[in-house]
Amino acid sequence: MTYIESSTLTAIAKDYLEELKKRNDPLKARDRLKIPLQEMPSQDPHIRAKNLEEVATGYTEEQAILEAMRCLQCPKEMCVHDCPVMVNIPVFLKYIADGDFQSAVDEIKKTSLLPAICGRVCPQEVQCQLNCTVGKSLKDVDQAVSIGRLERFVADWERKQGTVKLPEIKPETGKKVAIVGSGPAGLVVAADVRREGHEVTLFEAFHKLGGVMRYGIPEFRLPNDIVDEEIETLKKIGVKFQTNFVVGRTRKLHDLITKDGYDAVFVGTGAGLPLFMGIEGENLVGVFSANEYLTRANLMRAFEKDKAATPIYSSKRVAVLGGGNVAMDAARMSLRLGAEKVYVVYRRTEVEMPARKEEVQHAKEEGIEFLFLQNAKRILGDEKSRVKAMECLRYELGEPDSSGRRRPVVIPDSEFLLDVDTVIVAIGNGSNPLVSQTTPDLKVNRWGNIIVDDNQKTSMERVFAGGDIVLGAATVILAMGEGRRAAKAINDLLAEDLKKNQS
Ligand SMILES: Cc1cc2nc3c(=O)[nH]c(=O)nc-3n(C[C@H](O)[C@H](O)[C@H](O)COP(=O)(O)OP(=O)(O)OC[C@H]3O[C@@H](n4cnc5c(N)ncnc54)[C@H](O)[C@@H]3O)c2cc1C
Ligand code: SF4
Repeated sequence: MTYIESSTLTAIAKDYLEELKKRNDPLKARDRLKIPLQEMPSQDPHIRAKNLEEVATGYTEEQAILEAMRCLQCPKEMCVHDCPVMVNIPVFLKYIADGDFQSAVDEIKKTSLLPAICGRVCPQEVQCQLNCTVGKSLKDVDQAVSIGRLERFVADWERKQGTVKLPEIKPETGKKVAIVGSGPAGLVVAADVRREGHEVTLFEAFHKLGGVMRYGIPEFRLPNDIVDEEIETLKKIGVKFQTNFVVGRTRKLHDLITKDGYDAVFVGTGAGLPLFMGIEGENLVGVFSANEYLTRANLMRAFEKDKAATPIYSSKRVAVLGGGNVAMDAARMSLRLGAEKVYVVYRRTEVEMPARKEEVQHAKEEGIEFLFLQNAKRILGDEKSRVKAMECLRYELGEPDSSGRRRPVVIPDSEFLLDVDTVIVAIGNGSNPLVSQTTPDLKVNRWGNIIVDDNQKTSMERVFAGGDIVLGAATVILAMGEGRRAAKAINDLLAEDLKKNQS
């Protein structure tokens, strides 16, 4: 796909819709399959590579209606089945096709609490869009109905109208719930538990709320004001927030129950522990974990160069190691922070890359160079211990490994030098260990993930957990899904308590 200006995309959609409106007979499936997929308008790559504004600018009304008209309203909706929170997709798409955007967003919110966020960052191509009948009929998953873009469209439409409704809160029960971590898992639990009338306090280690949605995913993919608005809604319904509060240090998990009188606790502390390659030179100045790099840029506002309290290392030539969304975010962020040349170094090929296709496409459009079938062997430093180059090896693909992806095999004597001054390691994250290290009776598996039952209950009475701390580094929607399940279990537990008190 080459870049097409937003005005052109809008004009084409308008004309197509006008033509369809002239028809008197109802659209048949074959007519719907002929409607062209609506591309997402975006900022010009040359301009956006130097700013932090959102890359994708969102569908216009005409594009949204036309895209929703592509849906075949299948009797057996694979899209709903493949959505982790089972949004009633055909129903909300029909509302959009009819121009009833409010009903569309109301329908989504019955099951998904954060549509403006999920519509932007969910990997729809491997979830709801994967088995969409339209994509299957056109033999191309990229031609599936753009469910995520439409979800985002109606959520943004509602915000612009100022019609976002506050959820109804049941009468106060006197029960208290503590939530640890303000990522998507914690926020969903806060909303669902507060709705039942329980008092909710959310503890967050950082000075800002939102978890990875704030400190990891850059503003050019997920603007902060969208996360802020979700948090504002929670504040308005009475959720209390305590930032700079590190559970395990400021207060032990046990103390929340035994001393502070919380009736239940949810742990949603995420997977923020960066993994490194374990190669020579990783301790040099100019080597970062993607986590640190993105946290400095997003949370500590390093891009505001004149104002930032913790200015970021100035880079000219950057190598990012890894092939996931985190690697794409780090590479694109380094470009925006002033790097002149950015490489993504990945030891398999583009086919095996776990990053979303759209993100890879955007990165390429912005000028990032991908070095496939290559990887770092060691990082070389100068006399001041600053990165001066990276020695790499070339690879070829062998037999599939346990993940089903073909194993990268080193080509002997293939070493070469890459001229870089910065290396960002983006090869994955482990679970945050502090809570489990300071709570011996909280059972974890060998990777440090908290062990839970089907209701997200941990080995400790009245303690529940969910999101990345349970799943390992996963996705926003899966974290939300776990939060939903945990909230239900907490609400059930507290309802039992209240019943016992009454009898
Ligand atoms: C750079 C990056 C890009 C990503 N891109 C995508 C994407 O495009 N799409 C997608 O679906 N997913 C993406 N993910 C993954 C997704 O963001 C996570 O799966 C999701 O945020 C997990 O939610 P969570 O609530 O479990 O934890 P988190 O979002 O990690 O939040 C956990 C919170 O707990 C706090 N905390 C930790 N320990 C303590 C403590 N002891 N006391 C108090 N607070 C504590 C942390 O500070 C943090 O705020 C990305 C991740 C990263 C890092
Ligand atoms: S599978 Fe695709 S075409 Fe069928 S109802 Fe879902 S979105 Fe519509």
